[in-house]
Amino acid sequence: MTLDLAVHPAPAPLADDARAAILADPGFGRYFTDHMAVARWQDGAWQDAEITALAPFSLHPSAAVLHYGQEIFEGLKAYRHADGSVHLFRPEKNARRFAQSAERLALPVLPEDDFVATVAALVEADAAWVPTPRDASHEASLYIRPFMIATEAFLGVRPSQEVTYSVIASPAGPYFAGGVQGVALWVTEQYTRASRGGTGAAKCGGNYAASLAAQAEAREHGCDQVLYLDGEEHAWLEESGTMNLFLVTDDGELVTPSLGTILEGVTRDSILDLAPDLGLRTTERRVSLAELRDDLASGRVREVFAAGTAAVITPVTAFRGRDAATGDDYEVTVGDGAPGTTALAIRTALLDVQYGRAEDTRGWLREVVPA
Ligand SMILES: *Cc1c(COP(=O)(O)O)cnc(C)c1O
Repeated sequence: MTLDLAVHPAPAPLADDARAAILADPGFGRYFTDHMAVARWQDGAWQDAEITALAPFSLHPSAAVLHYGQEIFEGLKAYRHADGSVHLFRPEKNARRFAQSAERLALPVLPEDDFVATVAALVEADAAWVPTPRDASHEASLYIRPFMIATEAFLGVRPSQEVTYSVIASPAGPYFAGGVQGVALWVTEQYTRASRGGTGAAKCGGNYAASLAAQAEAREHGCDQVLYLDGEEHAWLEESGTMNLFLVTDDGELVTPSLGTILEGVTRDSILDLAPDLGLRTTERRVSLAELRDDLASGRVREVFAAGTAAVITPVTAFRGRDAATGDDYEVTVGDGAPGTTALAIRTALLDVQYGRAEDTRGWLREVVPA
């Protein structure tokens, strides 16, 4: 840790009973903990790092982030184990990706150990906000959102010379309240998420701003999420915009689109690492939409799922889209239209490590609050 991190406990944290009421049904992203981490970059150096009471920011109306979107973020979770201890899952992967996103958005790089230390210090300060799962089938965690914004008051177009880094946290309940359900993906012809040389591999707010119209288009077609194709040929599967994509074949191969313009998910990487334990062969390669449609029709592809920190694994049970050649809408069902057994097995294997129910043989957990 190169940052000198001061800890100023919130003078008026939420009362125990009010917090307990929130933790009983937190939903996602609706409630926030008592503290936040903040550090400022000014005169070419990180300074004023502190854990302090959660409070609104004051920004000059000309702050660069408000005009040119110079912003990046991360998403990870803290998990409470049965013995009461609290753990982060591979936070150094998020730290690395945050540094890469910063480079792409011309923001100053926060040293990776400072990223992990500020996240850990926030979870320590807000340990009471980490939910306790009711049993092994219940998911409840503290979602952590580190981010960085350009705060310099200046309307010229160049990298901001003043930046704020912050970490906030929000308790999260099960993503699927009534058990894991499959989603339908809309294969958008109209929009692309990323192109070569763009910001697809960076976790930046601008990518999400551009995804909202596509998401609305998906909803109009009765779909929950979007499946993006590549920007150049509009032929190759990329990802679903907040989650990476996986296919399971009838002979035990787990296929995922190669890196490049997609976001390199920590969940994606962890699944590729865990899958051989479940008897799967893993392949990272380009997969075309035409190939996917053929292989779904023939039964060669048995399952499809999407993966990301928030929902862990989401089974994909159908695709809808507009056929470029005929102009007609099509719908393809995946397997028998129900969540696949392989997706559910991988989901359980990952959750068991995160919640301490399986041995952490890969050293993925970092304890931040002892039992
Ligand atoms: C964050 C994100 C993911 C998933 O990454 P995880 O590290 O697994 O949470 C996938 N795609 C996009 C576009 C993302 O922003």
